[in-house]
Order: sequence, then structure tokens, then C-alpha cells
Amino acid sequence: MRPKPKKSLGQNFLIDKNIQRKIVAACGLHLSDNVLEIGPGRGELTRPIAQNAKKVIAVEIDKFLFSELKQEFKDYKNTKIVNCDILKFDPTKFFSKTDLINSNIKVVGNIPYYISSPIIEHLFKFNKYIDTVFMTVQKEFARRITALPGSKDYGSLTCFVRYYTEPKILFLIKKNSFFPIPKVDSCLLRLKILRHPGVAINDEKLFFKIIRAAFNKRRKTLRNSLEGIIPQEKLNNFFDTFNIDCNIRPEDLSLQNFADLANK
Ligand code: SAM
Repeated sequence: MRPKPKKSLGQNFLIDKNIQRKIVAACGLHLSDNVLEIGPGRGELTRPIAQNAKKVIAVEIDKFLFSELKQEFKDYKNTKIVNCDILKFDPTKFFSKTDLINSNIKVVGNIPYYISSPIIEHLFKFNKYIDTVFMTVQKEFARRITALPGSKDYGSLTCFVRYYTEPKILFLIKKNSFFPIPKVDSCLLRLKILRHPGVAINDEKLFFKIIRAAFNKRRKTLRNSLEGIIPQEKLNNFFDTFNIDCNIRPEDLSLQNFADLANK
């Protein structure tokens, strides 16, 4: 008998066949595509993906699901099921040199909500090999990623993801499409990896440090939230050069503004 879905591993399986088809169609797979699937679960997405791609590496942390999947996909020559935590997974060990050089890996996943951010962060370490990421995430999470400056959802996550990708919400997925039914609705999010970052930066570490510090105290003015990180005279210089109101709040700065600030 199958064990109960594990809450601790975010096991809300996608049971709506229409949505399964819609997700795979949205990925626009070709027989030349290499796919990394995160959390294949019971293989509902893995099957159609394997039929439409050149190679599939599906990374599942749950030992029981892994052994079921391994058995089920044993005749699929193009599919490898790996028992591993995606946060420790290194794609360079599983895709060929040519596949990596061509940067054509598509990442697909109905991913556990509690590690959505760490997964994105981990994937961006390999951004040069990835073409697009398609992920089913909580609606609120997707809103934070696609938010525009000035909105309450706009924050360091938005800036971080925008630096590496062009994000788009493709469609909403009602919570009753999953079993067990989660508390909130989801959506399919597409992150098209940019071959060149969204803005030109001299020092990435400093850029992200400034963004994190700014949004840590997002209710304060930028001047106050960056106190102790950027000397006041440098900030004044930035406000003057770029004609920015010196009382501006972090959430009103665009990615380009943060880049200008870091570069200055
Ligand atoms: N893809 C399946 C579907 O759409 O029905 C399952 C989705 S379920 C939301 C998330 C899956 O990710 C589960 O199978 C879970 O065991 C797996 N998972 C959770 N944490 C993981 C991790 N750190 N690394 C790899 N897989 C993980």
C-alpha cells in the first residue's frame, strides 16, 4: 500500500489531468530538449515530458516514490530518476558537455512551497546551462516575483529573480487540482533565463547586499534603511546624479536604480 502523502515534503500531487496537459503544453517541449524535473512525485508530469523530450533527469527526494518511479520508468531509455535533494543536485554531473554548452536545459517542477526560494537560488548557480524554468508555485509567491516597483509585493526576491530572468505567470491553478488540497491556489510561473543579466553590475555581491539591506527595513526611507552600509555623502551623490527624491522608499526603486546605486 502507498504511504500517505508527506506534508513535510510538500507532497500535494497534481491530479487534474487537464492541468497536467496544460503544463506540459506550456513547456513547448521538442524532441531535442533536455529536461530537469524537480520532484516528479508519482510521475504524472514525468510521463508526458519523457515522451516529448530528448532526455529527462527527474530528481525526487522521497525514497519510496523514487523506487516506484525507477520501476515504472525502467523501459524509458531517455529518463533517469535520481534520489537526491534538489538543493544538493549538480546538473553538470548528469547532462553531457554538449547539452550544457548549448544552455538548453528546461527545468520543470511542481515544487514544494516551503523551498521555492532556495530552489530558485540553487538553480541560478547553474543559470548558464538553463534555458527556461517552468514551476508550479503558490500564487502569492509568483506575485512577489512578477511585482512591479511601488507595489507591496515588490521586494528583494523580485529583484533577485529579475536580475537573472524574465518572469511571467502563465496561468492560475485552482487548489482543488491537487491532492491533498493545499490551502492556497497556485499558478504556473515561467522564468526565461536571460543570457545577460537584467542590468549591468560591477560587483554582484554588493548589489545584492544593498538590495537585501534596503528591503530589510522597507518601511523606512532608503536613506535610513541603508544607514551603516552606504555613507551619507555617497547616497546624496547618487540622489543628485540620478535625480531621485532623497526621501524615496526601497520599494520605489527599480532594478536599474539599485544597479546605479551599487555601481556608484
Ligand atoms: N510532480 C508531482 C505532481 O505534480 O504531482 C509531485 C509534486 S509535489 C508538490 C512535490 C514533490 O517534490 C514530491 O514528490 C516531493 O517528495 C518532492 N520533493 C520535496 N522536497 C524535495 C527536494 N528537496 N528535492 C527533490 N524532491 C523534493
